[in-house]
Amino acid sequence: MSFNKKSVRDVELKGKRVVMRVDFNVPVKEGKIKDDTRIKAALPTIKYVLDKGASLVLLSHLGRPDGEVKSEFSLKPTAVRLGELLGKEVKFASDCIGDQAVSMAKSLKPGEVLVCENTRFHKAEDMKAKTDEDKKTMNDFAKELAKLGEIFVNDAFGSAHRAHGSTALICKYIPVSVAGFLMEKEIQYLGQAIDNPVRPFIAIIGGAKVSDKLAVLKALIEKCDSLLVGGGMAYTFLKAQGHEVGKSLCELELIDTAKEIMALAKQKKMNFMLPVDNVIADKFDNAAQIKTVENDVPADWMALDIGPKTVAEYVAVVAKAKTIVWNGPMGCFEMPNFAQGTLGICKAVADATQKGAVSVIGGGDSVAAVNQSKLADKMTHISTGGGASLELLEGRKLPGVVALNDK
Ligand code: AMP
Repeated sequence: MSFNKKSVRDVELKGKRVVMRVDFNVPVKEGKIKDDTRIKAALPTIKYVLDKGASLVLLSHLGRPDGEVKSEFSLKPTAVRLGELLGKEVKFASDCIGDQAVSMAKSLKPGEVLVCENTRFHKAEDMKAKTDEDKKTMNDFAKELAKLGEIFVNDAFGSAHRAHGSTALICKYIPVSVAGFLMEKEIQYLGQAIDNPVRPFIAIIGGAKVSDKLAVLKALIEKCDSLLVGGGMAYTFLKAQGHEVGKSLCELELIDTAKEIMALAKQKKMNFMLPVDNVIADKFDNAAQIKTVENDVPADWMALDIGPKTVAEYVAVVAKAKTIVWNGPMGCFEMPNFAQGTLGICKAVADATQKGAVSVIGGGDSVAAVNQSKLADKMTHISTGGGASLELLEGRKLPGVVALNDK
């Protein structure tokens, strides 16, 4: 996918006031940031804009405050952290719209930065617009946000699949809207993998449920040479094949859908792989009794990881791949006794990447697993957006990208 949207490189920034949507949705506990990866990921665009002589107003959401001001979802700690990372003062506005925010934005000098409070403290940011009145409320909010600057930069890939005030609607009310570097990079890597992959192209899909990833499974079957399924979702497929799955995660209402997906894979003559053995436990606990079984899971037991035979089969396919997309862990990797499957795949993807394959890791839990394995720097690209990366892989257009100016 060639990226046909303008980026910060394509506009004159000197002396301008830039409003940038970033993804500062970081984990915060008791006012302390637990992981600042997302703030660091936005630094290249932030520094570029400041170096070019613009002033900068940053917008973001944090968590799900449901349209209410809740101090635990304040962006204040991110402003402090950004100040430390930039080595300069970062101002903070206690609301993202209104006279005070606008006057603080307007008084910024070139090179100065203002972080505005959580956009989701306003219902109008992310409400589900059902009526014309709702739509007007959302548009009015976006219009207020647009008063903060003259150029809009969207660098929040993780929120680009949402048509919210600060991610898409603002573009209607501001003269220029362009992409930041992170946004550009995400779309290039994920888009390239899905549209123009060097083959063999394989996808590894895991995680809890089939229902979360139905659309992506169908889209990938159309495009991939092999699809390797793991995690909780595998047991709905195994059940659909007639295996017993005991107390494993299983979406009985999706058995027919699972059958259809497997039939589609057969029709496309692609290699659809399911676990041939599993690590099972007598309870959902790292200290549970554990054993490895092939095929059926006994009643009263639950499968919490793929087994060593499955890992070996999957590793052999990964080793031959030239393009690898991975989304979702192979088991409950958060518990060390059920992390071997995910770590085995992680190592195989890292090895294949070192030998020249392109590997793209989808956001969320797969990223946590790759970080846990300390192999993150061995992958080609680690996406910052879970939902957004899934929607791109499904071939859907992201509203936050569509709204930007074309080249
Ligand atoms: P997702 O957000 O859909 O990618 O799912 C990630 C979550 O799925 C992680 O928290 C895993 O612990 C969980 N998970 C993976 N495999 C299993 C399994 N076999 N049974 C239950 N949960 C699982």
